[in-house]
Amino acid sequence: MSEKYGKVYLAGSGPGDPDLMTVKVRRLIDEVDVVVYDQLPGEAILRLIPDKTEKIDAGKYADNHTLTQDKINEVIVEKAREGKTVLRLKGGDPYVFGRGGEEAEELVKAGVSFEVVPGITSAVAVPAYAGIPVTHRDSNSMVTFITGHEDPTKEETGLNWQLLAQFDGTLVIFMGVKMLKRNCDELLKYGKDPKTPAALIERGTRPDQRVTVGTLSNISALAEERNVKAPAITVIGDVVRLHDILGEQISKY
Ligand code: SAH
Repeated sequence: MSEKYGKVYLAGSGPGDPDLMTVKVRRLIDEVDVVVYDQLPGEAILRLIPDKTEKIDAGKYADNHTLTQDKINEVIVEKAREGKTVLRLKGGDPYVFGRGGEEAEELVKAGVSFEVVPGITSAVAVPAYAGIPVTHRDSNSMVTFITGHEDPTKEETGLNWQLLAQFDGTLVIFMGVKMLKRNCDELLKYGKDPKTPAALIERGTRPDQRVTVGTLSNISALAEERNVKAPAITVIGDVVRLHDILGEQISKY
């Protein structure tokens, strides 16, 4: 009977700066019995988990295999069945490329009650700190969030690059460090203007944030030169020009 079970909060902790966590997540961190976390929320947030709280590092299992995702689901369900209140803490927003939807489905299947706690997604907050609004009246009325395989050995990305090359809005690409060159090449191949401004933002909203600005034709070479590492987000579109005007915002914490 689900009433006997504990409850799971499927939550996002925002892009990294602890000040960008919701008030609700901040409260839950202090209140729950168990926190199951990924590495993405970052040290500054994970440090806030009280000593008394059981901590489970889901990242330890995370290898992008279905099996390991199953294990994460299993442990969450198991803790809830023990009657515990569980905070499943993910980076950004739990339903934006975080497999939160899959975890929620598993909870429904298992009869465990849960609540989603939206977070500030890196898709908009990371460009914002880099001085890049993802929309601007003068340049675009559309924006799209994209993710692809991280595995450069795979031939197909499963994305319709032809359509994306024609898309007249801002492209925000997640998880693309290893795949950046191929993604840019695909867009160029289908005729996207090589001069389209592009930015790569590493560790956005964190004190060691780094922004690399270029164009669609040179951003992947710049990324290699500067040894860009995950987590990073790529923004492609005219809004990137605003970076020079609005400037970067650097967190101190
Ligand atoms: N649910 C998360 C995204 C999870 S996918 C969200 O809503 O933000 C993980 C990807 O998110 C990373 O590979 C990276 O592309 C992006 N990301 C998350 N936090 C980031 C940060 N602080 N700086 C740059 N990219 C970030």
